[in-house]
Amino acid sequence: MHLRVKIQAFAALACLTSLSAAAQMSQPVLGEETTKISDHVWAIMGFPNVAIIVGSRATLVVDTGLGPRNGATIARVAAKLSRNPKLFLTTTHFHPEHAAGEAGFPPNTILIRNAVQQQEMEKHGAEMVESFSSRSAQNKELLAGVKLRSPDVIFETEAKIDLGGVTARLLWFGGAHTKGDELTFVEPDGTLVSGDVVQNKVVPNIFGDGGTPASWIAVLDKISALNVQHVLPDHSAPGDGSLVMQERAFIDDLQTRALALKRQGVSAEDAGKQLSAEFKTKYPDWPSMNVAGFVRSIYAE
Ligand SMILES: [Zn+2]
Ligand SMILES: [Zn+2]
Repeated sequence: MHLRVKIQAFAALACLTSLSAAAQMSQPVLGEETTKISDHVWAIMGFPNVAIIVGSRATLVVDTGLGPRNGATIARVAAKLSRNPKLFLTTTHFHPEHAAGEAGFPPNTILIRNAVQQQEMEKHGAEMVESFSSRSAQNKELLAGVKLRSPDVIFETEAKIDLGGVTARLLWFGGAHTKGDELTFVEPDGTLVSGDVVQNKVVPNIFGDGGTPASWIAVLDKISALNVQHVLPDHSAPGDGSLVMQERAFIDDLQTRALALKRQGVSAEDAGKQLSAEFKTKYPDWPSMNVAGFVRSIYAE
């Protein structure tokens, strides 16, 4: 009896802990606490997870948080970890929680991103800020007066930043969640800051006219050629290099099943419903399983 009470208490506690992790991941105000990912990489876990890569000569931050107040928090944390005031900032993609906090960083911050992402930013950035602002009073406040400035450096497919004892390779491998998804690969740590491209048990989400299932797989194949040891995704828990193959295997699996149903004449809508139920059973430890959107993309390709 006593043991059972204990077990129940433990289960309740475990549940609370996972709840608070989930709550933290959707809470738009970032805290100052950091988690060490690898020798040169720290993360602020939240909405989104933000990477801080520290070398002897400079520091690189990946993603800005939602609005300048979050940007300023990240800049403060980065300054505490930094060994040198030189600061680079890049963004995994153009969505507001990843890019709209830039104004909170010190004015001499060097903003760098890939050309495709910048094109998306110019086309849809302001519209996304407006859309996020309309979702809650808190978002509206955090995004008030946001202006999106042009980067100091724009690159096509790769930019290498020597931070001093550690190198960040900023990579554009093609479209996945968005057209301009950027990956940061940190050497020698083998740490991949993966944005939405590689997540930990999260159904992939192609946003608007972003990538396609095939381009997402092509990006993952290019990532496989890197020697990834640690993965820091933007909206899920960090993990080891096996997350890359897990992501690819999931998309492969979903694509195979969806195309089989398409050949049988099942509508995209019905296939989405059927496969959401099927994959919920097949991947029981994934927190949510709605594959309807991705199945539509597979049908359309
Ligand atoms: Zn996004
Ligand atoms: Zn996001």
